Amino acid sequence: MTILFTGAAGEVTGSCHLLETEWGLIALDCGMFQGGAERHLRNREKFPVNPQEVTAVLLSHAHLDHCGRLPLFVRDGFSGKIFATDATCQLTTIVLHDAATLNEEDANWKIKRLKKKGEDWSWVTPLFSTTDVEKMESHLEPVPYNQWQRLNKGMQFRFLEAGHLLGSAMIDLRWKVNGKERSLLFTGDIGPMKMPIVRDPARVEGTSVLLMESTYGDRNHSPKDNYQIRFGQIINETIANGGVVIIPSFAVGRTQEVLYVLSQLMREKVLAPVDVFVDSPMAEEVTKVYHHHLSLYDEEASSLVRQGRDPLSLPSLKFLRSVEESKTLNERQEPFVVIAGSGMCTGGRVKHHLAHRISDPKNTIIFVGFQAEGTLGRQIVDGVSPVRIFGEHYPVRARVEVLDAFSAHADQSELVRWTEGFLRPPEITFLVHGEKERAMVLQRILSERGWNCWIPESGQRFTLAVPET
Ligand SMILES: [Zn+2]
Repeated sequence: MTILFTGAAGEVTGSCHLLETEWGLIALDCGMFQGGAERHLRNREKFPVNPQEVTAVLLSHAHLDHCGRLPLFVRDGFSGKIFATDATCQLTTIVLHDAATLNEEDANWKIKRLKKKGEDWSWVTPLFSTTDVEKMESHLEPVPYNQWQRLNKGMQFRFLEAGHLLGSAMIDLRWKVNGKERSLLFTGDIGPMKMPIVRDPARVEGTSVLLMESTYGDRNHSPKDNYQIRFGQIINETIANGGVVIIPSFAVGRTQEVLYVLSQLMREKVLAPVDVFVDSPMAEEVTKVYHHHLSLYDEEASSLVRQGRDPLSLPSLKFLRSVEESKTLNERQEPFVVIAGSGMCTGGRVKHHLAHRISDPKNTIIFVGFQAEGTLGRQIVDGVSPVRIFGEHYPVRARVEVLDAFSAHADQSELVRWTEGFLRPPEITFLVHGEKERAMVLQRILSERGWNCWIPESGQRFTLAVPET
């Protein structure tokens, strides 16, 4: 077998690894490159192999950096099945429809601007359209966790819990060479232990070849103790001052985690009663998918369900669908909490709320996710003031808080602990989905423990040794 690394190799986006096997070509993930114009252009490049020749895609989870180029893959001729867990199939459909709408709006806006200038606009097309997503949907093939599935004449696979997002999976592949069993495990993104709602990542005892994520290969998250209490305190203080709390959050995964924590804090009476708004139609759809998959909840969330409670609900929770509903919050004088996307304040409805509230010291902005360089979120976290929103300058007078204990990725200590489940090291380990310097720290730790560890670069091919007969 040969592995061709084509994305999330030395970086964290564009996850896509191709397996060249004697039974055909198989893709692990088909994700979008994200973060800046240069990466965005890479999404428009031709795939390194002809999608017509790929027999199947195995999809780890529904985040755009893992599934975002699937509509392009189908448009370019892929005609096989896209295997994923049922929750991942449903979330992927929502995520890609949302992305298609944004692509189309973006293209229309560009066309309008070029027309106004009297320039040629015929070259502008959305990266992919709603029609492309609809065509992709018919290729999705839901598969349960922990059940072996036949992939082709010689290979089988199963999905194991990855603990990163509802439906997220590690992919365990098995086949035989010269009568000997061989295996490859692709971790996808590994969640932290005890993440709300989802179960912990599956323990794995061994594999011949490991493709492992390394996002936080070089660091540990802040201690988790008390971050939820602190979250409640910040909100209480803001409400007591008559202010508004704005929580920029991604609609898929993080928003549900925030709702879970808010619900818990209110149940435990740590948090004073307050109106909570989720200002995102996509977050509402995603939350419905969570409600459809109660069997995937962890023990704590399941026990709440058994008691007849909805762990993602609050007495005062309201989802806002239309732009008009969203605008009504601008007039509101009483304190409230609003959760809105995008998580890094690069677009979406959160920008409107920031424009209205960021210059008032009564209000608080709580960041619950990583803020990449160059984003409005990062500027606010770094103390830049004034900030530019929709072309206007706003002085930042609101209180700014960062709660980085919210994370959907295992940190260095958790990644290392996960590898300690192995009874013996894999023959070869490839660290993917991590910036090179970060992956190198994890590589050093694992190498010291006798692991044969590599950090592949995009475009690199590795042919696996054939075991002797
Ligand atoms: Zn992810």
